[in-house]
Amino acid sequence: MNYQSIFAEAIAALHAENRYRIFADLERIAGRFPAAIWRSEQDAREVIIWCSNDYLGMGQHPAVVEAMCGAARTMGAGAGGTRNISGTNHPLVVLEDELADLHGKEAALVFTSGFVSNEAAISTIAKLLPDCVILSDELNHASMIEGVRRSGAQKMIFRHNDLDHLEELLKSLSRERPKLIAFESVYSMDGDIAPIGKIADLADKYGAMTYLDEVHAVGMYGGRGGGIAERDGVMHRIDVIEGTLAKAFGTLGGYITGSQPTIDAIRSYAQGFIFTTALPPAIAAAALTSIRHLKTSSAERDAQQRHAALTKQVLVEAGLPLMNSDTHIVPIHVGDANLCKQASDLLLEEHDIYIQPINYPTVPRGQERLRITPTPFHDEKLIADLVSALTSVWRTIGLPLFADNEDNRSNQAVAAGNTRRAVFPPAGG
Ligand SMILES: *Cc1c(COP(=O)(O)O)cnc(C)c1O
Repeated sequence: MNYQSIFAEAIAALHAENRYRIFADLERIAGRFPAAIWRSEQDAREVIIWCSNDYLGMGQHPAVVEAMCGAARTMGAGAGGTRNISGTNHPLVVLEDELADLHGKEAALVFTSGFVSNEAAISTIAKLLPDCVILSDELNHASMIEGVRRSGAQKMIFRHNDLDHLEELLKSLSRERPKLIAFESVYSMDGDIAPIGKIADLADKYGAMTYLDEVHAVGMYGGRGGGIAERDGVMHRIDVIEGTLAKAFGTLGGYITGSQPTIDAIRSYAQGFIFTTALPPAIAAAALTSIRHLKTSSAERDAQQRHAALTKQVLVEAGLPLMNSDTHIVPIHVGDANLCKQASDLLLEEHDIYIQPINYPTVPRGQERLRITPTPFHDEKLIADLVSALTSVWRTIGLPLFADNEDNRSNQAVAAGNTRRAVFPPAGG
């Protein structure tokens, strides 16, 4: 058996589909976000990152960095073991109290990543509920899908954000049967938002439990950064709210919040919690500092929203195919894996701008895109540089600029008013 040739063939298949991934070798510069050093085969030079999920730049906030260094100096580098074997580091206890408070819940539990928190929590909840059926949004993140799969429970997929379809499925189930509705607040590739309150209405009507992934919203929405559910005043209507410490909070780790019995049961039964080493105290301390800062400061959220709105506006004015987005996420449609990679390569090599191409399976084939994430640190000058670089790249590789033709008029209308009406790909695309 030639094992190596099997791996080589698997890689060749990705190359053939133009979706073999190459990671840029980057070194972020604390204090100069979003600048980073990019190392290529030829040289090392400074570039601007436009696709970071460190959405608010909190990963380089001086207080956050200091909390991390301070905790490492006083408590050491590692956690020393799983919590079941070695106990809980005190900073994790404080962090969990802070997270429970952030989402208005009785309890919280921290995991080593958001991925692990979804996988562990969803699978454990659905295993503990006898004959549970999981109703899952079709665009749910891979970590939620993994939790559903691992639970072994029956699953029903509802069309994305489609309340009628969800209700139809709920109606088909007997009232007594335990049901878990699993969904996200902000969907990270399209930047659209779930109707959380209406989903909670359906959950009430049909006696279902609700599980909400707020990974792309925590820190960024709501008066204290509690997410879309906080913004919409519906946190108390959701049973379990999950989030990450690795995106807007700028560090690492994931968590769930909910009632005392729910969280205690997951703490006691979830393999992905029990059998892995806890987050180090330095990371817990840094995350805590970041969360506390964003509970009282809205400056970062406001600047992010301003820069996202401005970026959308100038992209549309330049005729670039902005896709629908209700949030800080700014996707531009390319629609072809090869062209998407070419655009990304050109931006980096010719314009010192880094935007990772988003290809299948992260998005469906034909919806390949560049996913741009403006932050409080992407100012007007950087936005202007971005748009001129994108326009040049679009011309170089022959992608359509809508300023060049009649579609421009509707695009301009969009720029003037509601960017939500910029529909790309065009109908049927
Ligand atoms: C990134 C992501 C996760 C995983 O969070 P990590 O902390 O990065 O592991 C979970 N859910 C969604 C929707 C995500 O985009």
